[in-house]
Amino acid sequence: MLLSIFLSCNNPKNNLKNSKCIHCGMNTQKYQQWIGVIKEKQKIAITCSPRCLLLVCLRDKEKLKADLSLKDYYEQTKIDAKKTFFVVGSKILGPMGNDFIPFKTKKDADLFLQDNQGKKILSFQEIDFKTIMEYQ
Ligand SMILES: [Zn+2]
Repeated sequence: MLLSIFLSCNNPKNNLKNSKCIHCGMNTQKYQQWIGVIKEKQKIAITCSPRCLLLVCLRDKEKLKADLSLKDYYEQTKIDAKKTFFVVGSKILGPMGNDFIPFKTKKDADLFLQDNQGKKILSFQEIDFKTIMEYQ
């Protein structure tokens, strides 16, 4: 038992899973389906949710040069955050409450919007502090 804990602590993959959100400090382990990843040169930072990733990028424009990824809500595959279609105002809640639900394709975003009473589809570039305040 002790040995397995020790081994899992030394596994870099598990370390990533146990990371805290760089925006709000929440442990991201329980929210693997929602996490955002910010990869800058050798550094990797994790956010607990698309909302936290967006806030980090709005606060620090330097982050826009990094490799930003999220997980497609349906497929659970890695997608480029800067090309993501975000559904806002739906009844689906992320780790931080109302969130910006990420999709790779506009088609899936549309489908989700209709199924979950979403309000709008926004691109990464359309989202600013005002939008984030509006949908919380
Ligand atoms: Zn967070």
